[in-house]
Amino acid sequence: MIDVPGIFASNVFNDEKMRARLPRDTYEAYRASIDSDTTLEISVANAVADAMKDWAIEMGCTHYTHWFQPMTGITAEKHDSFLTPEGNGRVIMEFSGKELIKGEPDASSFPSGGIRATFEARGYTTWDPTSPAFVKDNTLCVPTAFVSYTGDVLDKKTPLLRSMDRINHESVRILNLLGKTEVTRVEATVGPEQEYFLIDKELYEQRKDLIYTGRTLFGARSPKGQQLDDHYFGAIKQRVKAFMAELDEELWKLGIYAKTEHNEVAPAQHELAPIFTSVNIAADHNQLTMELMKRIARKHGMVCLLHEKPFKGVNGSGKHNNWSLSTNTGENLLKPGKKPEENTQFLLFLTAVIRAVDEYQDLLRLSVATAGNDHRLGGDEAPPAIISMFLGDDLEAIVEAIINGEDYESHGKVVMNTGAEVLPEIRKDTTDRNRTSPFAFTGNKFEFRSLGSALNISCPNIMLNTMVADVLSEFSDELEKATDLDAAIRKLIRRTLKKHRRIIFNGDGYTDEWIDEAEKRGLLNLKSTPEALKRYTLKMNVELFKRNRIFSEKEVKARQEILLENYVKIIDLEALTMLDMAKKDILPGVSAFTGELAETIQRKRAVSKDIRVDAEIKLLNKLSDLLSRFSETIDELDSKVGGASGSSITPRRYCR
Ligand code: ADP
Ligand code: MG
Repeated sequence: MIDVPGIFASNVFNDEKMRARLPRDTYEAYRASIDSDTTLEISVANAVADAMKDWAIEMGCTHYTHWFQPMTGITAEKHDSFLTPEGNGRVIMEFSGKELIKGEPDASSFPSGGIRATFEARGYTTWDPTSPAFVKDNTLCVPTAFVSYTGDVLDKKTPLLRSMDRINHESVRILNLLGKTEVTRVEATVGPEQEYFLIDKELYEQRKDLIYTGRTLFGARSPKGQQLDDHYFGAIKQRVKAFMAELDEELWKLGIYAKTEHNEVAPAQHELAPIFTSVNIAADHNQLTMELMKRIARKHGMVCLLHEKPFKGVNGSGKHNNWSLSTNTGENLLKPGKKPEENTQFLLFLTAVIRAVDEYQDLLRLSVATAGNDHRLGGDEAPPAIISMFLGDDLEAIVEAIINGEDYESHGKVVMNTGAEVLPEIRKDTTDRNRTSPFAFTGNKFEFRSLGSALNISCPNIMLNTMVADVLSEFSDELEKATDLDAAIRKLIRRTLKKHRRIIFNGDGYTDEWIDEAEKRGLLNLKSTPEALKRYTLKMNVELFKRNRIFSEKEVKARQEILLENYVKIIDLEALTMLDMAKKDILPGVSAFTGELAETIQRKRAVSKDIRVDAEIKLLNKLSDLLSRFSETIDELDSKVGGASGSSITPRRYCR
């Protein structure tokens, strides 16, 4: 038996450890600076760094690293040892406040979208004190943000932190206006549900396409697919079970609230859901979770595939981003309560989200746009590329009643009769689940379901926080001027809902009728990544980011370029891998087999000319025909790739 509370967060230098190891006044100075978002005094930083280092050495560390999230989508590290020469041939282990706060990785090997020319390769990592340091592979990892020498954002964490500030500020402002003066802080909370595949390592190693691109580029449908749905929640095989047990333990040690695990719809597909936490921590934790999944799978003779669509004909993997807002007084702002129709505060926040999602559909869509995810969205297994919102019958009826100026009384929760006295009463949710909606209200949070499994969750949450904060700010501007606040709120909600009701759709998002209907409503249907990314730099979007101090125009353009370049590289790599497999494996293989067939025919004929060879001849004919067509297609691809890659695949990595 593992002692879960005992090991939980044992690899994390959390607040509790900091308090235990720092002198009281130093700890208080540190806490005060975090709580008021002010810069840390260098003396305090030195003391924190020293305590962190002592703890890390006790945990077996010799090195530290600034752990950051560049635009590659994965995390980066540069390891330095604590070793410092003393001058007399001896060394001591040191870690200063300066080293804790600021690092200088070789920025030139990370994408910057032209922001940072290579001759000014300098970039800085700066400590994010809101996310605790942790130990991984005998290394102390310090979560950091990554910016260029000129202060331009080069990572995913900095804008996320900025967007959290915005949603905090605007939520507190409007709550104070509503009379909730005890609220001083509002946090965006996220629980990301992570899907993944586990496959046998030996089988994986036979597939160049899986190795190089993460998905199969050639293949035949297996006779047993997911038709039977019998894998879902089925018995988890022993090896997978051992993997999950080890994964859980390692995640718990890192203070990650891994909670539920089950098999998914597709064969060999699984899901892990952590308990929600504040969004910057959730983003760090999700990156760590993906990294550990990959590493631990290998130890168990398996490979973890995080690609959004590894196999054709089998469901791909997504990530559900459950998002809500919670106050320092412990209130969830998206909780409707028993009578949502009378809950002005809830309706105001709901209205803000509805308007934000409608106005910035394209930002939500492009925040999940990747080459791999293009294979999933709209594929009868994942939401369509069209962004819409599901509210459920009860809330939708309330919205309709408000728009029509009618009274509405919600039914509240219905008690379900299970028919058995011994079972506790189950309160039925007022709405059933809708699995086809990209953006669904699920009782006390919104679930954004369009994310691909490999995505860093920062980007969609930057969008969500920013656009909702922006709308709330406009709401406050209007309401602060009102003489009759209640009347002004009612008017504002009604007017806004009327204008943005088109984004609400409770039906089946997988049908063709919805595509037509969405078009009539004027909703966007951005089918591919390039189409979606084009909209990043629209004036309206750039203005949103500038107004909220998330990105400058230069930074938006850089991001667009990085994402497009990444898309092109992936498509190019897939084409090159396809060519390699076709030329080296498939063409010679089929050609050799047709040769064998021809020989068989001759040998059979030599025995007796009465022996039938029509089956072999038919097969030989068919294969020879397929082979020449295949060869022509490959030549065509070859010439296209030759033309395209010269421009796209120039390496962006520069040696020093
Ligand atoms: P479901 O079955 O609807 O997917 P769960 O209760 O299992 O719902 O939650 C799914 C995810 O949503 C979990 O990661 C959970 O922690 C997260 N979640 C629950 N409440 C919130 C909230 N207030 N804010 C953000 N995420 C939440
Ligand atoms: Mg869910």
